[in-house]
Amino acid sequence: MQRPRIPDRSRDALAPALRDVRAVVFDTDGVITDSARVHAAAWKEAFDAFLRAHPPEDPALRRPFDERDDYLRHVDGKSRLDGAEAFLAARGIETSAETVRAVAADKERLFTQRLREQGVDAYPYGPRVGVDAYPGTVRLVQALRAAGVPRAAASASRHAGELLSRAGVLDLFDALVDGGEAARLGLPGKPEPDLFLEAVRRLGVPADRAAVVEDALAGVEAGRRGGFALVVGVDRAAGADTGARLLLHGADIVVHDLGELCAGGAPK
Ligand SMILES: [Mg+2]
Repeated sequence: MQRPRIPDRSRDALAPALRDVRAVVFDTDGVITDSARVHAAAWKEAFDAFLRAHPPEDPALRRPFDERDDYLRHVDGKSRLDGAEAFLAARGIETSAETVRAVAADKERLFTQRLREQGVDAYPYGPRVGVDAYPGTVRLVQALRAAGVPRAAASASRHAGELLSRAGVLDLFDALVDGGEAARLGLPGKPEPDLFLEAVRRLGVPADRAAVVEDALAGVEAGRRGGFALVVGVDRAAGADTGARLLLHGADIVVHDLGELCAGGAPK
């Protein structure tokens, strides 16, 4: 006698878009933790010092680095060197590898300094200081965990593990591929998909059955190039048209808060 089929209710806490997904890879800065602002501020200090010391010939290109628009357009999601090179090129500055390395190193120093200022006695792996996880992201990650869907964190930054630990959410992920791992494995940066493909490989799920969640233009593009089943863009309102640009670069859907992907949406 055939037994009645028992419906699988474990995914009821997830929005329909995620119900067929077997794994989810989350970008870190700006998706899991609110640390993108710390990166953007460090970039601004490094780039503005460079622009003052080496003003572009065209006065229109001398304006200071914009923490929202320039960050999203040229730097966000990329490796430090790729980001420095892209922004300086956009300002018409011909750069040597040495110049790019110097500006990138300056940003790294300023970023680390800011992290220390925000929680010096707990540095590097202390209690929750300075960096927070977005509550909507935590809700979604917990709902995925309850549904048995494996989760990875991925980031071009070598600081990802530290940031996740500071925010108290490192344990919610089954795998982490950060900038240090990417360098060790020789993985190219976003918009190449290698970082995400490595993350989903570690979860044991093919990309075409997995989702990527990203807030950077280079990141959603990497998700698309990697052949992921679903690319979720997170619009942290960097600009009025950020959502449209995320869609243009490869996001299948765009949300403002990942709580929107829990059944019933984000709490009001
Ligand atoms: Mg990001």
